[in-house]
Parts: sequence; structure tokens; C-alpha cells
Amino acid sequence: MKPIALFGGTFDPVHYGHLGLARTAFAQLELQKILVLPAGNPYQKGGLPLASADHRRIMLRLAFQGDFQVLVDERELWRTGATYTFDTLFELRTEIGADASLVWLIGSDAFSRLDTWHRWRELFGLTHFAVIDRSTHKLATAHCSSEFLQEVEPRFAGLLDTQMSPSGAVVFLETSPPPVSSTEIRERTARGESIRGLTPDAVCDYIERHKLYLIKE
Ligand code: ATP
Repeated sequence: MKPIALFGGTFDPVHYGHLGLARTAFAQLELQKILVLPAGNPYQKGGLPLASADHRRIMLRLAFQGDFQVLVDERELWRTGATYTFDTLFELRTEIGADASLVWLIGSDAFSRLDTWHRWRELFGLTHFAVIDRSTHKLATAHCSSEFLQEVEPRFAGLLDTQMSPSGAVVFLETSPPPVSSTEIRERTARGESIRGLTPDAVCDYIERHKLYLIKE
């Protein structure tokens, strides 16, 4: 059973760290496809995204163009109110069926805060998690709550265990993507510095053409 991966984020904007995560996951988990899910109103991030839903979705399409196994799924972008991963996963599970393997791709920074997500324990009944270490934010279990560790540690498994069951395992991808962040791109753009090499040229050109991220946060 080849898993379907789900990759949520704000993508404000998408960058080579995101592309690297998707490529690593594709190779190491022997995926069927990846659905990229840009968030509408990511309540976890405090403020609203700086670029509109439309800009973020177009930049994602530019970044993944030609990659036929990666599809941008816009369902969260147009949802009103906070974007809850639980709702998205529940909906996808209903569409895809109870037996298919789903894997949520996530960086170590976001995973270590999973216990702040809406209905977080129930997420394990809907998906596996594949965690990738961000070189800037290694998964430091010392910073995780004991409640979180008690839930996740018994779930640690080998990469290909994600093919044996529909949900419930936590696996660790083996290479770290480049240490880029959307924050770095926004800050560099606001300072008038180049962002070439941090995200594909088509995205750099789009940011320039539409004068995105020129205002300091
Ligand atoms: P920001 O700087 O605005 O917080 P970000 O660069 O972390 O944004 P998000 O859209 O929030 O980008 O990230 C979506 C997902 O991708 C998260 O799970 C995050 O941990 C992961 N991710 C982002 N950048 C990297 C990277 N360089 N390496 C590995 N994972 C990453």
C-alpha cells in the first residue's frame, strides 16, 4: 500500500526547504503522491499570512510545476475561520477511505508543538506523521511536554511501517533540507536583498513582479 502524503503549511512563500522536504519524503517513503495544503488562516502562527491566499497558491504552483506527483489542494485556503488540521484530515480520510495509508509531512519545529493543535491526539487515528529535522530546529525532546512524549514515543517506527497500516506511526526522515525559512525570505525582501537560491527563480520573479514582502514585519 503506497502512502499518500499530506504537506500542510503557510507557504508565505514556498522555498527550497519545502521542496527538499517533499523530495526526501517522496524517495524515502515510496509515496504514491503528495497533496500540498496551503493554510487559510493558520491560527498557530499568530498573525495572518502576509501574502494573499491567491499569491501563495500561485507561488506553490510555480515551485512545483512539472512535478506530476505533487498536487496543490486548495481546500484550506478558502475555509473561513481558523484552519484546523483535524478537520482537513477528517475530510480527506472520508474521501480516500479507511484503508489507505496517509502520512502527514512535518518539520521538527512544528512537530514538537503538536500538542497545541486542535484535537491533537485524534490526529494519530487519521494519519501517520513523517518528521524531518530542520537543521535550525532539531527535535529536542527536552522541550516537549511529558504528555506529548508519552503519546508519541510508543509510536516511533521504521520508515516503511507507514505502508503496513493506514495511520498511527511516527517516523523520521533521514536527510535535512536546506535551512531556509519563509521568514528569512520575507526579511531579506523587506531589506532589499536578493532571495535567489532560496526559492526557485519563478517564485523570485513572481515576488518581484507583485512587489510582495516589501514591508517590514
Ligand atoms: P515561517 O518562517 O513563516 O515560520 P516556514 O519556513 O517554517 O515559515 P511553513 O510554511 O510554516 O514554512 O512550513 C510548513 C512545513 O514545512 C512545516 O512543517 C515546517 O516545519 C516545514 N519546513 C519549513 N521549512 C523547512 C526546512 N527548511 N526544512 C525542513 N522542514 C521545513
